[in-house]
Amino acid sequence: MRALVLRSGGLVVDDIAEPEPDAGQVLVAPRAAGICGSDLHLLDLAGKAETPGPDMVFGHEFCAEIVDHGPGTDRTLAAGTLVCSLPLAYSASRGVAMLGTTPLRNGAFAERMVLNENLLLPVPNGLSAELAALTEPMAVGWHAVAMARLDDGAVPLVVGCGPVGLAVIAALKVRGIGPVVAADFSPARRRLAEAMGADVVVDPAVESPYERWTDALVPEGGAVQPEVVVPLLGWLPSSRPAVVFECVGVPGLIQQVMAGAPRGAQVVVVGACMEPDNFLPIVGLTKELQVQFAVAYTAGEFAETLRHLAEGRIDGTPLVTGRVGLDGGAQAFEDLRNPEAHAKILVEPWR
Ligand SMILES: [Zn+2]
Repeated sequence: MRALVLRSGGLVVDDIAEPEPDAGQVLVAPRAAGICGSDLHLLDLAGKAETPGPDMVFGHEFCAEIVDHGPGTDRTLAAGTLVCSLPLAYSASRGVAMLGTTPLRNGAFAERMVLNENLLLPVPNGLSAELAALTEPMAVGWHAVAMARLDDGAVPLVVGCGPVGLAVIAALKVRGIGPVVAADFSPARRRLAEAMGADVVVDPAVESPYERWTDALVPEGGAVQPEVVVPLLGWLPSSRPAVVFECVGVPGLIQQVMAGAPRGAQVVVVGACMEPDNFLPIVGLTKELQVQFAVAYTAGEFAETLRHLAEGRIDGTPLVTGRVGLDGGAQAFEDLRNPEAHAKILVEPWR
């Protein structure tokens, strides 16, 4: 079968062995699979590696169609059913494979892959495969919001409006939390933030997101009162709690967010920075900031996110900015590096 293969630090389309389901597994055909920022990062790392690793196939954000049932399956869902799944496959003989990040099993940028029957979630409500494929990235935002302290009228600031930030915005809106303030240097990403429901959208090159956020923290109907402004200098409790979602994941961001945050704020770090980073502890100390890291999602949050997409509470349509077949995959990885051009590109291996 054809697949987009990571080989010697680059991406090539090639024929690879057909995957065979182990006990409890099904063979599926990916209908749509998103390219993730982490795929770009892993491609870059592979490009820099001195000795090339084994071939592997990316694709952990997918919706697929059941093709065939392997041994020892219950066959509760018929062939042809559209399904989503947590991006992992496991069996007694092969162990656990995190799909799209390991050579153990191929990810979704291929004509076929295997999934475990007991992890399959049928796509409800006639949701399209391309929107269902957004379940995985949107679940990341859903989980980050679940990890935040958002009681007592907390005001959220989302720093960075790539797919992670957009997923956080969508989750905040579903939960009725706001006003949502969002910041990104890219005009295209600010438009997407608006489309996903952000109430106040800020260009950090023009004005400080922390100042616009200050406005949002003023209690409704109230003029700016000293007890609201003073805490923003970082010294007194603020009238409304503040939560900053760091959705960029580059060195320096955590320090920047801590410096801008009001006293007592929670900083939820969702951006995946894979390099060493520095921050000045005294900044967090004097403000008694709470820093919470958040990654991935639970199985329950994943299923919940699929339901929100299927029932239209989360509209992922603005996020999908491109679709390619396997042959367009390598170019799509390059195109994704320009935030003005793209947010999420879907690979459709059947094309
Ligand atoms: Zn991802």
